[in-house]
Amino acid sequence: MKEFQLIEHYFRNKGQKRRDVELSIGDDCALVNPAENKSIAISCDTLVENVHFLADIPAHALGYKALAVNLSDLAAMGAEPAWFTLAITLPSVEAQWLERFSDGLFEIAEYYGIALIGGDTTRGPRSITITINGQVIKGSALTRGGANNGDWIYVTGTLGDSALGLDILRGAKIVNTEDKEYLINRHYYPTPRVLAGQALRNLATSAIDLSDGLVSDIQHVLKASKVGAIIDVSQIPLSSSIKVNLSREEALSYALTGGEDYELLFTVPESQRGAIDTALIHAGVKFVKIGQICAGDKLKLVDDGEPFVPVSRGFEHF
Ligand code: ADP
Ligand code: MG
Repeated sequence: MKEFQLIEHYFRNKGQKRRDVELSIGDDCALVNPAENKSIAISCDTLVENVHFLADIPAHALGYKALAVNLSDLAAMGAEPAWFTLAITLPSVEAQWLERFSDGLFEIAEYYGIALIGGDTTRGPRSITITINGQVIKGSALTRGGANNGDWIYVTGTLGDSALGLDILRGAKIVNTEDKEYLINRHYYPTPRVLAGQALRNLATSAIDLSDGLVSDIQHVLKASKVGAIIDVSQIPLSSSIKVNLSREEALSYALTGGEDYELLFTVPESQRGAIDTALIHAGVKFVKIGQICAGDKLKLVDDGEPFVPVSRGFEHF
């Protein structure tokens, strides 16, 4: 199959049509017409085989996850997803693999009403790069830099499930059969908190999505906001699947330092706590207060008033 046939068959005229796309796949560039009062939020993520995903990941999961992790970045800014491009590098063209990859990709693309408008197709070691574009009303994007002394720290969902799912897939952990599927799915099919992110605009002072692990990611907020934080590990939300299968210490280690949860961490001033409750209940997402921003530049973990040290599991590429 030639490159243009592959694009035609698996990627063109699939998924969402949007009126703000003037010209899509097929020309030298795509043309989009953003809304007048909005900024465009742009983010790019690459997934490389054996670095970001296991070689035997189901193609459907890879297609889904590649877009989900990009959507998570838009969520963290409170942006509305709009368009994306896909650069795909494959060692060979396998029809069945591409069919499933494309199904996974467009499943989540359609759910969020986002259109594939272009890309690049090359031969080489398997990797997927997606550049995503969203829109956000000018001046209302959430950043990492707005947290203030005294703000409360919240997270959505539960933490640590994805990292445990990965260890199950690697054969490094064994769990009950009832929990295995849930944990692996949390790794393969993360839920980007897109609606929650939008609901937090004008209410939260800062936000970040948790991709490398809470302890590692919160440092970005502390640095950008020039503040410190205290987190009470006894408040960290844990799924019943993680609690049933691990000791408390181990579960907290996954939750604090395991990556790829793609939940949101955000900070809220005391005056907005009621509004946050209402906004997030409407967005249909669970969330919980885990700590507070303080002066200084350090992260302090406490457990029932005592200092707490987790086993490090954060992941850095370089
Ligand atoms: P060019 O040589 O000008 O870069 P290409 O032949 O690479 O053009 O691509 C032709 C068209 O197909 C372009 O509109 C490009 O954006 C699109 N395209 C290429 N690969 C993909 C892909 N994997 N997914 C979606 N669109 C793609
Ligand atoms: Mg090209």
